[in-house]
Amino acid sequence: MDNIAHRYTQDGAHALQPMTMEWRDGGAYALLGPSGCGKTTLLNIISGLVAPSDGRVVFDGRDVTHLPPQERNIAQVFQFPVVYDSMTVAENLEFPLRNQGLDTAQRRRRVAEVLELLELTHAARHKARNLGADSKQKISLGRGLVRTGANAILLDEPLTVIDPALKWELRAQLKKVHQQIGHTMIYVTHDQTEALTVADQVVVMLEGRVLQVGTPQELFDRPAHTFVGTFIGSPGMNLLPCTVGGSTARVEDTPVPLGADYGSPPGALELGIRPEHIRLAAGAAGGLPVTVRKVDDLGREQIVHARLGSRDLAIILREGEAVPDNPVALFDTDYLHLYADGVRVPRPGAEGTP
Ligand code: ATP
Repeated sequence: MDNIAHRYTQDGAHALQPMTMEWRDGGAYALLGPSGCGKTTLLNIISGLVAPSDGRVVFDGRDVTHLPPQERNIAQVFQFPVVYDSMTVAENLEFPLRNQGLDTAQRRRRVAEVLELLELTHAARHKARNLGADSKQKISLGRGLVRTGANAILLDEPLTVIDPALKWELRAQLKKVHQQIGHTMIYVTHDQTEALTVADQVVVMLEGRVLQVGTPQELFDRPAHTFVGTFIGSPGMNLLPCTVGGSTARVEDTPVPLGADYGSPPGALELGIRPEHIRLAAGAAGGLPVTVRKVDDLGREQIVHARLGSRDLAIILREGEAVPDNPVALFDTDYLHLYADGVRVPRPGAEGTP
């Protein structure tokens, strides 16, 4: 995508801010962000349902910006099932292959593979009309996955109508199917768990802007933007307004060592630290005194809700770890991030550009 941007009306706001991005052939991507951030707009620009107001879409060196969806060789799966009720499950899956011109033996082999992957073999001869919403959506997924040689498979919140218990199973199946088939997959969701399970690269969006593209681990370890820090993780990253002089920040008038000399960065400054990267100790020197308000015991971990001066601070302790008396919070410097006006400041000396 070369300098793509989109406005739905000439003088309206950008639904998609200018962006340039290369999508790796065979990659599994999730577009993740809150409602209205531009995920569907971006997906529809890739599929050809929306023509961007600026920029070019290029597939393998070929400019497809103005080609309709049917000339882009992409498979699409939508929120709600698209199936032919009067056909059997197998016939529904076979249909896209007939259009592709595959011979009978090839079609049968391919349909059998996809039925097996989606655990629908037992229902192959059932009419689609007699199936529940879950199974119908599985067929929709199958119709997207069955196509051979598609440039990409695009999925727009495909698990919305699926029963919560089955969602876990289908996410895992999708991941497996992607690994076996190797299609480029682009998956729209507003659910972080879904994005992190299904994709190997997550594209985090907010207000028409791509804030960060990274593996789930990268988004967790090094959020490029405060929104990514708070949106990913449960609870999300703690953000503490601070001032900075060299290698020390001051939070609520208490010094916090930063582990690197940041000089005096401009902008509104915040320290970011995930609940997983804070320890509680009993009155240790160099710690930040906190008051514990509440502890949620989730079995394998405990979430401590504390106050640091006038600020809330979430801390995750492992199962069985006790909250000490008169606790102080100790931050793991390796996972301490500085943000200026919401954007991560690269750690001086250790990193190039963020
Ligand atoms: P959701 O998760 O709710 O589907 P989204 O992240 O997919 O949201 P988009 O549907 O791409 O977001 O919408 C991005 C912006 O563009 C929103 O402000 C939306 O109101 C606007 N928009 C979307 N489609 C149209 C349209 N056909 N005409 C005008 N504005 C639109």
